[in-house]
Amino acid sequence: MSNAMLIDLTRCIGCRGCQAACKQWHDLPAESTRNLGSYQNPPKTSGKTWTLISFDEITVDGQLDWVFAKRQCMHCQHPACASACTVGALHKTADGPVAYDAAKCIGCRYCQYACPYDIPAYEWDQTLGLIGKCDFCVDRQAAGLEPACVKACPTEALVFGKRSDLLAEARRRLARTPHNYVQHIYGEHEAGGASMLYLSSVPFASLGFPTLAAEPATAYTELIMRQTPGIALGVAAGASAVYWIIRRRQMMQEQAAAPATVTTAESAEEVQS
Ligand code: SF4
Ligand code: SF4
Ligand code: SF4
Repeated sequence: MSNAMLIDLTRCIGCRGCQAACKQWHDLPAESTRNLGSYQNPPKTSGKTWTLISFDEITVDGQLDWVFAKRQCMHCQHPACASACTVGALHKTADGPVAYDAAKCIGCRYCQYACPYDIPAYEWDQTLGLIGKCDFCVDRQAAGLEPACVKACPTEALVFGKRSDLLAEARRRLARTPHNYVQHIYGEHEAGGASMLYLSSVPFASLGFPTLAAEPATAYTELIMRQTPGIALGVAAGASAVYWIIRRRQMMQEQAAAPATVTTAESAEEVQS
């Protein structure tokens, strides 16, 4: 049984320690953002922000609840992103992470269109790769460590473990304090199930989590990719050609700028001598 994460929203205090720890471990840069009128920042996950805490004010039965929810890739059991990728740049590992290989990616963005959670983010200026998303700390897992976000969480709102154990723990919590939760483990069945499992005090739809059937999304993407291999390869080839042209322009601009830097340094030496 593969690894998973239990995210209990009733224990989250919105400190964003997980968000900062993810940035720190993966050496992700800061990004310019905008004020949404809440503490949520930035508005959406991206190639520079692989996880974030959403802040929602929800009224249930006249009671106002301020709900904090960690968002990131769900690491689906049957990832639609991987089945849509024509070059095998995304794959589900036996341990649970849906891993990304930047060396194989041609930037066609099929994964972005296929993902039912709107997660893969396309990055023109990303040195880590063209697509950015949570990698479930695949490197830390390989070294026997828990994900950086789990380690940073001060309230144990995040728990790392085997998927079967975490499902059993989630059911225990639902049975022990049923008044604290909606009776739903999000991620157990959605789109064929996921490695990220959630518990919440309010309906997941009210937090903007997509309502998905239990059938894996891969059923649709594989059908489409089988029926349109020519289109898929054409789009992929076109996208990689566009990317090649842009990179070539960037390199030419960098080369053109390089002598100016040397001249400036030489001029500085001349001034000093
Ligand atoms: S949430 Fe999206 S990006 Fe993550 S594994 Fe599932 S389909 Fe892929
Ligand atoms: S599992 Fe790792 S990559 Fe994913 S959100 Fe947590 S720290 Fe970031
Ligand atoms: S570190 Fe834990 S408590 Fe803090 S925002 Fe993240 S999940 Fe919530």
